[in-house]
Amino acid sequence: MLPRTSQFRNEREHAKVASRRLFRKLIVSKTVLVVTPFHETGMSMLEQHPDIELCFSEDISESAICAAVGNAHAIIVRNGLITRKIIDSAPALEVVSRTGVGVDNVDIPALTERNIPLTITPNANATSVAEHAMYMILTLAKKGHMHHRAVTERNFAVRFEMHATDIESKRLLIIGFGRIGTRLAPRAAAFGMQVDVYDPYVEDAEIEVAGCSVATDLDAALSEADYVSLHCPLTDETRHIISNAELSRMKTTAVIINTARGGVVDEDALVEALNSGSISGAGVDVFVDEPPPEGHPLLSAPNMLLSPHHAGVSLQAAERAGVSVANNTISALFGTLDQAVVVNPEVL
Ligand code: NAD
Repeated sequence: MLPRTSQFRNEREHAKVASRRLFRKLIVSKTVLVVTPFHETGMSMLEQHPDIELCFSEDISESAICAAVGNAHAIIVRNGLITRKIIDSAPALEVVSRTGVGVDNVDIPALTERNIPLTITPNANATSVAEHAMYMILTLAKKGHMHHRAVTERNFAVRFEMHATDIESKRLLIIGFGRIGTRLAPRAAAFGMQVDVYDPYVEDAEIEVAGCSVATDLDAALSEADYVSLHCPLTDETRHIISNAELSRMKTTAVIINTARGGVVDEDALVEALNSGSISGAGVDVFVDEPPPEGHPLLSAPNMLLSPHHAGVSLQAAERAGVSVANNTISALFGTLDQAVVVNPEVL
């Protein structure tokens, strides 16, 4: 048994801790509105945070989010539109955290006017897209798509036709050396490919340090490439960066991979090049219109490998995005945000 004075001191300490906890709960506790549910690992980081209360809006209409956002200090969103009206309905709002990298669903000027950061999860799916580009290179080289179909059609004799090629020593031209392009380079190099990089906004030294060659002249690099993989954003400058003239410079054995954005490659020109045999194949994950309309000539072009804008989608990418969006939200509310994840860093 404790002496009376120690017991008294203990009780006083307990009372202090309890009142400090209550104070934190009342003053520090933050409400996070989850508009689009995300990976459970990230969700449980928020659920287990002692100073976060979660609320949800399953309905992503503007009126439903406006009704739910009243006390929110943070909004986590993927698909719903975050409009000025929603932002105006959230007087306590401190951050909007977007899962993924696209930001066209959020009214950024309305956030910036109130000094509210918009965060994204830029690195979550970069590896997945790089792996997808590598998968497309390998499948088109080994004719995986054609061989699978041949076996299901009982055409085993296809094995006597000389279809497959090795990628060792082949030249890969990467256009755009950002998060995804830099991840593709070592993967291709591990298969013995020679990697050239065209990115006028990246220092030559950065490209060379990565073991790649700098391509300063796109036309010259295209004429030497066996594979061309696009990893630049869609901008006025990059729209149709690959069109008729560029395709006509390429080897007849060359293959194009587009996992960047529809419109970076001119779809009509690509169809024409494949049909005329001026290049030998293409892997396309992204389209000008998604999904491409029925009967679109890309769908029936020869030696075409298609995927439904799926390059960035994987179980691991979803988990990384969930963890990142939770981290971004917690850092914005209680710590310091990493500027690299903030779309409007001028508010920091
Ligand atoms: P990033 O911003 O990290 O890198 C883009 C790179 O492109 C930068 O280094 C930039 O300097 C370069 N670039 C800009 N203009 C160029 C030009 N005219 N010529 C050559 N290079 C140029 O972007 P990221 O995260 O690597 O993404 C690249 C692309 O992949 C984007 O279009 C993005 O939308 C797309 N993406 C697709 C999927 C998918 O599921 N298919 C998923 C994620 C990203």
